Amino acid sequence: MLFSSIRVDLSASLCEAKGMTRAERIYLASHRCHDVDFLLKRWRMVARKAGLQVDDLEGVNHSTILALSNHRESSGRALYLSAGIHGDEPAAVQGLLQWAEENIPFLQNHPVIIFPCLNPWGLVNNIREDEKGRDLNRCFDQPDIRMIAEIHHLIEGCNFGIAACLHEDFDAKGVYVYELARRGEKLGAALLKKVERTIPRHRGRVDGRESRNGVMRRTRGLEQIVEEIGGVPEAVHLFLNHARTALTFETPSEYSLYRRVQCHIRFLDGLADITRRAAE
Ligand SMILES: [Zn+2]
Repeated sequence: MLFSSIRVDLSASLCEAKGMTRAERIYLASHRCHDVDFLLKRWRMVARKAGLQVDDLEGVNHSTILALSNHRESSGRALYLSAGIHGDEPAAVQGLLQWAEENIPFLQNHPVIIFPCLNPWGLVNNIREDEKGRDLNRCFDQPDIRMIAEIHHLIEGCNFGIAACLHEDFDAKGVYVYELARRGEKLGAALLKKVERTIPRHRGRVDGRESRNGVMRRTRGLEQIVEEIGGVPEAVHLFLNHARTALTFETPSEYSLYRRVQCHIRFLDGLADITRRAAE
């Protein structure tokens, strides 16, 4: 009895949380961010509207991993976007979907490949790793994993201007980005500027390394990082083999899901602006 009355009081005060907009309250009460079937249905709709080719990759337990694309080119202008390789990072998956739904004309007119949810089993179960306990973001040098082999095959010969992998971080106090880029080419700081009105930048260190105003930048020395973390992340594989710049964008998991999703949308808006300008 006591507990149920406490629960009622808590939810009442949460709904009246200071600064929460009506849109945020409605979103938090109605989202289905771990519902993979609903997610895939919406992505197939995006593909139909934008004229994107859909490839079904097979994940563990015959779960479906979608790839959506409209090119097989090596011009270096294409955009690579992915989310959900870690199953307990739902804002990345939702942000990518909502951004795509709102940007059909962009998807019709620019070369892209999108992996909307690379670990559907993890998303359903709200777990970082896949069903076999593997952190897939340390496995991009392991083509014996079927999903990895299929991604390698799909992007064979492709050169991307930008590859962006969307993530969340339970330890972060704000948004931040890992920027793997060629010398003199910088995008991370400007992209964070578009996002920080929604959630401020992370200050200080990330995994023991100093960030510069939320940007963790690297142009070389990736072999050492791979050794330290014990495997090849998606962004490192892309930077070394396919992309001029590879960005890993992170939102802090302890902020409101609504605001985290908005951050991913704004980050992607920024990437779209850069891509449009480069195409002019
Ligand atoms: Zn992650």
